[in-house]
Amino acid sequence: MSDTIFAKIIRKEIPAEIVYEDEQVLAFRDINPQGPTHVLVIPKEEIATANDIIGDHEQLVGHMVTTAVQIAKEEGIADDGYRLVMNCNPEGGQEVYHIHLHLIGGRQMEWPPG
Ligand code: AMP
Repeated sequence: MSDTIFAKIIRKEIPAEIVYEDEQVLAFRDINPQGPTHVLVIPKEEIATANDIIGDHEQLVGHMVTTAVQIAKEEGIADDGYRLVMNCNPEGGQEVYHIHLHLIGGRQMEWPPG
Protein backbone atom coordinates (compact mmCIF):
# COMPACT_ATOMS: atom_id res chain seq x y z
CA MET A 1 0.00 0.00 0.00
CA SER A 2 1.48 3.32 -1.04
CA ASP A 3 2.02 6.21 1.32
CA THR A 4 1.69 9.10 -1.09
CA ILE A 5 -0.55 11.86 0.15
CA PHE A 6 -2.94 11.13 -2.71
CA ALA A 7 -3.22 7.45 -1.73
CA LYS A 8 -4.24 8.65 1.73
CA ILE A 9 -6.85 10.97 0.19
CA ILE A 10 -8.22 8.05 -1.88
CA ARG A 11 -8.46 5.95 1.27
CA LYS A 12 -10.14 8.92 3.05
CA GLU A 13 -7.42 8.90 5.70
CA ILE A 14 -6.88 12.63 5.22
CA PRO A 15 -9.51 15.15 4.19
CA ALA A 16 -9.87 16.76 0.80
CA GLU A 17 -12.51 18.91 -0.85
CA ILE A 18 -13.76 16.29 -3.28
CA VAL A 19 -15.66 17.59 -6.30
CA TYR A 20 -16.12 14.29 -8.17
CA GLU A 21 -15.60 10.59 -7.51
CA ASP A 22 -16.36 7.35 -9.31
CA GLU A 23 -14.85 3.88 -9.35
CA GLN A 24 -11.88 4.98 -11.46
CA VAL A 25 -11.01 8.56 -10.54
CA LEU A 26 -11.15 11.12 -7.76
CA ALA A 27 -11.13 14.90 -8.22
CA PHE A 28 -10.46 17.35 -5.40
CA ARG A 29 -9.40 20.97 -4.95
CA ASP A 30 -5.67 21.69 -4.77
CA ILE A 31 -4.56 22.79 -1.30
CA ASN A 32 -2.38 25.52 -2.85
CA PRO A 33 -4.52 26.81 -5.72
CA GLN A 34 -2.83 28.52 -8.64
CA GLY A 35 -6.06 30.08 -9.85
CA PRO A 36 -9.69 30.60 -8.83
CA THR A 37 -10.28 27.02 -9.97
CA HIS A 38 -7.55 24.45 -9.30
CA VAL A 39 -8.73 20.85 -9.21
CA LEU A 40 -6.61 17.70 -9.30
CA VAL A 41 -7.96 14.67 -11.13
CA ILE A 42 -6.25 11.45 -10.07
CA PRO A 43 -6.74 7.78 -10.90
CA LYS A 44 -7.54 5.47 -8.00
CA GLU A 45 -5.00 3.07 -9.48
CA GLU A 46 -1.52 3.95 -8.34
CA ILE A 47 0.58 5.11 -11.30
CA ALA A 48 3.69 6.98 -10.16
CA THR A 49 4.54 9.15 -13.15
CA ALA A 50 3.52 9.83 -16.74
CA ASN A 51 6.39 7.54 -17.72
CA ASP A 52 4.50 4.65 -16.13
CA ILE A 53 1.39 5.14 -18.30
CA ILE A 54 1.08 2.15 -20.63
CA GLY A 55 -1.41 1.05 -23.25
CA ASP A 56 -3.60 -0.62 -20.64
CA HIS A 57 -4.15 2.82 -19.08
CA GLU A 58 -5.47 4.53 -22.21
CA GLN A 59 -9.13 4.33 -21.18
CA LEU A 60 -8.30 5.46 -17.64
CA VAL A 61 -6.21 8.44 -18.76
CA GLY A 62 -8.91 9.38 -21.25
CA HIS A 63 -11.43 9.24 -18.41
CA MET A 64 -9.21 11.58 -16.37
CA VAL A 65 -9.34 14.08 -19.25
CA THR A 66 -13.09 13.85 -19.81
CA THR A 67 -13.62 14.21 -16.05
CA ALA A 68 -11.49 17.36 -16.01
CA VAL A 69 -13.43 18.81 -18.96
CA GLN A 70 -16.74 18.08 -17.24
CA ILE A 71 -15.53 19.79 -14.06
CA ALA A 72 -14.34 22.79 -16.10
CA LYS A 73 -17.87 23.10 -17.50
CA GLU A 74 -19.42 22.80 -14.04
CA GLU A 75 -17.00 25.41 -12.67
CA GLY A 76 -18.05 27.79 -15.45
CA ILE A 77 -14.55 28.20 -16.90
CA ALA A 78 -14.86 26.06 -20.03
CA ASP A 79 -15.71 28.82 -22.50
CA ASP A 80 -13.13 31.32 -21.27
CA GLY A 81 -10.51 28.58 -21.10
CA TYR A 82 -8.27 26.73 -18.71
CA ARG A 83 -5.10 24.69 -18.53
CA LEU A 84 -4.68 20.91 -18.12
CA VAL A 85 -1.20 19.92 -16.90
CA MET A 86 0.49 16.68 -15.86
CA ASN A 87 3.95 17.27 -14.41
CA CYS A 88 6.50 14.45 -14.71
CA ASN A 89 9.57 13.90 -12.53
CA PRO A 90 11.79 16.61 -11.00
CA GLU A 91 12.39 18.75 -14.08
CA GLY A 92 8.69 18.64 -14.83
CA GLY A 93 7.97 19.95 -11.35
CA GLN A 94 6.31 16.79 -10.03
CA GLU A 95 6.05 16.69 -6.24
CA VAL A 96 3.54 13.90 -5.64
CA TYR A 97 4.37 10.58 -7.29
CA HIS A 98 0.84 9.50 -8.11
CA ILE A 99 -0.19 10.89 -11.50
CA HIS A 100 -2.61 13.77 -11.48
CA LEU A 101 -4.09 16.16 -13.96
CA HIS A 102 -4.13 19.78 -12.84
CA LEU A 103 -7.23 21.69 -14.01
CA ILE A 104 -6.42 25.36 -13.52
CA GLY A 105 -8.59 28.26 -14.66
CA GLY A 106 -10.50 31.37 -13.78
CA ARG A 107 -7.64 33.71 -14.71
CA GLN A 108 -5.49 34.51 -17.74
CA MET A 109 -2.66 31.97 -18.12
CA GLU A 110 0.81 32.92 -19.28
CA TRP A 111 2.93 31.04 -21.79
CA PRO A 112 5.62 29.78 -21.65
CA PRO A 113 5.38 28.47 -18.08
CA GLY A 114 8.25 29.12 -15.69
P1 AMP B 1 2.78 18.29 -8.69
O1 AMP B 1 3.82 19.33 -8.38
O2 AMP B 1 2.37 18.28 -10.14
O3 AMP B 1 3.16 16.91 -8.19
O4 AMP B 1 1.47 18.74 -7.93
C1 AMP B 1 1.16 18.34 -6.63
C2 AMP B 1 0.01 19.20 -6.19
O5 AMP B 1 -0.61 18.58 -5.08
C3 AMP B 1 0.42 20.61 -5.76
O6 AMP B 1 -0.28 21.56 -6.57
C4 AMP B 1 -0.02 20.67 -4.29
O7 AMP B 1 -0.50 21.93 -3.92
C5 AMP B 1 -1.09 19.60 -4.24
N1 AMP B 1 -1.30 19.01 -2.94
C6 AMP B 1 -0.38 18.51 -2.09
N2 AMP B 1 -0.95 18.02 -0.99
C7 AMP B 1 -2.29 18.21 -1.13
C8 AMP B 1 -3.44 17.91 -0.33
N3 AMP B 1 -3.33 17.31 0.86
N4 AMP B 1 -4.66 18.25 -0.81
C9 AMP B 1 -4.78 18.85 -2.01
N5 AMP B 1 -3.74 19.14 -2.81
C10 AMP B 1 -2.51 18.83 -2.39
